[in-house]
Amino acid sequence: MTLAIQGIGVDTSISTAIGKVLMLSRGNIQAEPGLVAGNRIEEEIQRFFNAVKEAAGQLREIRKQIPKDTPPDILEFIDTHLLMLEDKAISEAPAQTIREEGCSAEWALQMRRNQLMRVFEDMEDAYLRTRKDDLDHVVNRILHILQGGRNSDPAEIAGHIIVSEDLTPADAIMLHQRGAIGFITDFGSPMSHTAILARSLGIPAVVGAHGATSHLHPGELVVIDARHGSVLANCDNACLLFFRRRLEQEQAHRHALHNLRDTPALSLDGQQIELLANIELPEDTEPAIEGGCSGVGLYRTEFLYMNREELPTEEEHFQAYSQVVKGMGEQPVTIRTLDLGADKQCEYQPEPASCTNPALGLRAIRLCLKETDIFRIQIRAILRVSARGNVRMMLPMLTNLWEARQARQIIKEERLSLMEQGKAFDPEMPIGAMIETPAAALTAESFARLFDFLSIGTNDLIQYTLAVDRADDAVNHLYNALHPAVIMLIQQVVKAGITCGKPVAMCGEMAGTPGYIPLLLGMGLRSLSMHPASLPEAKQLIRNLDISQLEQKTAGILQNLLNEDL
Ligand code: PEP
Ligand code: MG
Repeated sequence: MTLAIQGIGVDTSISTAIGKVLMLSRGNIQAEPGLVAGNRIEEEIQRFFNAVKEAAGQLREIRKQIPKDTPPDILEFIDTHLLMLEDKAISEAPAQTIREEGCSAEWALQMRRNQLMRVFEDMEDAYLRTRKDDLDHVVNRILHILQGGRNSDPAEIAGHIIVSEDLTPADAIMLHQRGAIGFITDFGSPMSHTAILARSLGIPAVVGAHGATSHLHPGELVVIDARHGSVLANCDNACLLFFRRRLEQEQAHRHALHNLRDTPALSLDGQQIELLANIELPEDTEPAIEGGCSGVGLYRTEFLYMNREELPTEEEHFQAYSQVVKGMGEQPVTIRTLDLGADKQCEYQPEPASCTNPALGLRAIRLCLKETDIFRIQIRAILRVSARGNVRMMLPMLTNLWEARQARQIIKEERLSLMEQGKAFDPEMPIGAMIETPAAALTAESFARLFDFLSIGTNDLIQYTLAVDRADDAVNHLYNALHPAVIMLIQQVVKAGITCGKPVAMCGEMAGTPGYIPLLLGMGLRSLSMHPASLPEAKQLIRNLDISQLEQKTAGILQNLLNEDL
């Protein structure tokens, strides 16, 4: 009889995997008490230092393998482990214990772990208490090396489905690199690290499949059906045939999408849609081109400020932007000015520690207008790079027209200064406003008159319209792109663009979600900017849509939506 375990599916363009189980035990490694002879103490200390060094080397290697489109918190996760390895409490204190107590490196490290665990447990702060897991991961990695552990043989991993209680990002990357074809974990939620990484790596997974490690057996053939969040074991031939066929179809579909790269996003009735990419790093230019974009609609520049102590120089900005502009050739590159604050944090912290609500605080343009020196550095770099290609500048989080005027005044002053210094820039470089607050959407006409283009940032627009923190899982169910209030605001921005003869784009997640694209096109949007991975699917969809028909239907759909009970 087939055994089915239900969990949460992590669906990518491939949602099926069929393979044998490789059970991965991720329990804590326990070291036995051990002593070393007095004349071998220095050797033991060196053995410990070598293990710490090797652990750091492994993590750095894994960090390099992280896919480019992986959300930054995964990188942070690995960086936290690297920082822990550098912390004297882990990297040096056990050496002291070996020297003083004459014990083995394993036992010294184990005692250190126990001491630190007690400190973490006594902490009031729930976040710091969760660091216990990180400590375990780091200590286990060193113990594994000390105990002569070898990494699993790639041949043992290739073609297998990994079953584990949970997976760290480092494990997930290493396993993918060695050819694992699917992940099943007992624990995990849709936004857990395993799920996020599986999505970025394009690997089907089922997380939160409670009991998987007890019910499944090493070496048995299982099926992952990530579309429905289930794991099937002991399947009969008919069931296996069904999933083998589905896997073939999914692979053929993925291949077909890839072939669309150089095909225009032309609808059935001949309307050309501008499909742009959202990028975060210069390295993202390549996947964006691979995805078949016709330019960059949102270059999030805050990543230049992250994972470093000091602020980036004008030259660093200029080099990063030049790389993207060069990669994109003639195609437009829309550089968004700094949007630090709220969900985008860096070492440089402008907010007072007492700031209670960062999403409503000094973020994005508000911060730039307060810390104008930082803003001016970026503006100069963007202006300078405008001489090298098709560059646009975009200002985030506007709520007041005076903010827009102040920002434009600063841009004007920096143009004059560059002119005086004889530095080249494009005087015609378009400047756009992001519409991502209800205030800006309701007054979109004024912004449209002042700017060359508008771009709707639905991630924030939904957050602020519905008063739902976009990063808070507890209110996730209230975050609704189709809420009539959100749709009314989008409609208002599109109309403002038409009235003022200014182009309107959309660059929030909504723009790359296939289920919303027909509605957005029907509402009059013709420029959509999205994650590079979403481009092929969006293009294929658009090529099968008749937009003039959609426009007629949308009027009715909107009427119904707006009449619905809120
Ligand atoms: C948005 O808010 O929709 C947007 C694109 O900006 P970010 O997600 O970077 O805040
Ligand atoms: Mg935003």
